[in-house]
Amino acid sequence: MARSGYEAGMKMMEELTTNAEQIQEQVLEEILGRNAGTEYLRRFLRGETDTKLFKANVPIVTYEDIKPYIDRIANGEPSDILLDEPVIQFYRSSGTSGGQPKLIPTTAELANKGAIFDTLLQSVMTKHFGDLDHAGKRMELMFTKPVIETPSGLQAASVTTSIFKKSGFRTISKLYTSPIETIFCSDTKQSMYCQLLAGLIRRDEVVTVGSTFASTVLRSIKFLEDYWQELCSNIKIGQISDWIIDSGCRNAASLILKHNPDLAYSIENICSCKSWEGIIRKLWPKAKYISAINTGVMSQYTAELEFYGGGLPLVSGFYACSEAICGINLEPLSKSSDVSYTFLPNMAYFEFLPMKKDCVTISQDQAQFDGLSRHESIEKKTNNEDTEPVDLVNVKPGQCYELLVTTSAGLYRYRVGDILMVSGFHNNTPQFRFVERQNVILSIHADKTSEADLSKAVTEAKALLDPLGIFLTGYTSYGDTSSIPGHYVLFWELKGKEGNNIKEVDPKIMVECCSKMEESLNYTYKMYRKENEIAALEIRVVKQGTFDALMDYYVSKGASLSQFKAPSCTKSMEALKILDSRVIGKFFSPKTPI
Ligand code: AMP
Repeated sequence: MARSGYEAGMKMMEELTTNAEQIQEQVLEEILGRNAGTEYLRRFLRGETDTKLFKANVPIVTYEDIKPYIDRIANGEPSDILLDEPVIQFYRSSGTSGGQPKLIPTTAELANKGAIFDTLLQSVMTKHFGDLDHAGKRMELMFTKPVIETPSGLQAASVTTSIFKKSGFRTISKLYTSPIETIFCSDTKQSMYCQLLAGLIRRDEVVTVGSTFASTVLRSIKFLEDYWQELCSNIKIGQISDWIIDSGCRNAASLILKHNPDLAYSIENICSCKSWEGIIRKLWPKAKYISAINTGVMSQYTAELEFYGGGLPLVSGFYACSEAICGINLEPLSKSSDVSYTFLPNMAYFEFLPMKKDCVTISQDQAQFDGLSRHESIEKKTNNEDTEPVDLVNVKPGQCYELLVTTSAGLYRYRVGDILMVSGFHNNTPQFRFVERQNVILSIHADKTSEADLSKAVTEAKALLDPLGIFLTGYTSYGDTSSIPGHYVLFWELKGKEGNNIKEVDPKIMVECCSKMEESLNYTYKMYRKENEIAALEIRVVKQGTFDALMDYYVSKGASLSQFKAPSCTKSMEALKILDSRVIGKFFSPKTPI
């Protein structure tokens, strides 16, 4: 983006964040002005557009509550049962955050908001990294899923697929190394191979490396570990491998692939090093940063990404969901653990349901300090039902909230399912840290371990593997009740930093990891453990590639690789089958709890 463009974008950002309150009011008034007459809102507003009535009468809902309306539209009824503007298509959410993929209506107005968001995001990036559009190309790994047609004839696709399919994307696709045909190849293996090939061929032009989420960047590094020799051989002889049969991929590759032994040797030299520390920087020496969301469930990949990045900044640019675009990170160079998203008041009408207490589990000390009984401590942690939501500008620093969105596209006081913590303000607009997904809960007996608590316990335990040069490359969990008492099972995939395949880990260390996790888990868990109502925590080490297989399973079920988020805990029998069939070691914390 040129200087004048970025300055205009930054000016808009300042105006939006200074006038957040008025803009939010306007957004809500406009939504009600257009949609109050819909069948859905008439039930609560009787056609009136008063914002106070909206807050008093319109219920807070989940997807399940509005699904009947969405299904009716998908089946051919007019969209004005839910929203005034015509639905142009549906976004399919990833469905990996602990549920089935959802269909979210989208409209031309929302598409406009997307364009404004792009301008704002690019302005922030240009401010910090300069005009990269004219400095080279971005190696952004992008994947699409075939578009589905609903009975009404409306298309349904993931947000990322929809973005790449827009005609506007074709005009900016020259900014990327990946030829458009490789992005649209529905076979993720062929797509990944050809996108990496294109990125390697243009390695001297690459100014950023990334994907939407950190896990996809790491998936590509693992892929490169398996395929760099073949890729180099293709570059050496100027011919693509026979197994690339997708005609779009073959054609695109034939246009960029030239016989280039020098390039192949230089890549071989880098990739044949024993350690892949800093491999991204070595392969793409002009890259300025790695762009990939690495907050929330993605934070588990930060250490590994930093290792491969060799000092390149990791940039978590934005926070968005299929339902609404929410915020931008105004300090893209901040440490992953400090990343905050400044909300954009023009994108949707945002409300925040206060979590009754701290959203992270009450610590033992805190619970004792508060004089809570076991029952009360559980209640206090989970209950936010009887509190009133607050407006965007009225949130309090340090407080955790569940996000509600109201959009012009038919979502009214809709629970996105994410918990956020207010970390500060930019002008009059709050900034939030992503805490966890509300519905991702590891549970056994009456213990409920939230995603953030689980992540904290795993982080503390995996630190014991650090001195051994071992990464935890993926984890998930479930509550095993097949024996009494039940217990928590964690699946861990490990990898040596030197690229070595971990066949065996010192059992003593793994038992320590189990204990460390238990130590870190919440007060309620420990109480049940002491009373032997929950049995010793177990870590099952799975062989390398297991979490790729899990990702492949979810992608085969409809998730897009560009939007995939690993489940921190699962109840899916199929997922557990994939995990259990790859276990190479089982470890338990000592029988007597801490
Ligand atoms: P989807 O359901 O596929 O639309 O994915 C949206 C979800 O991804 C959000 O509701 C969050 O749970 C997660 N997400 C999106 N952006 C971020 C981010 N910057 N940090 C953490 N999680 C995110």
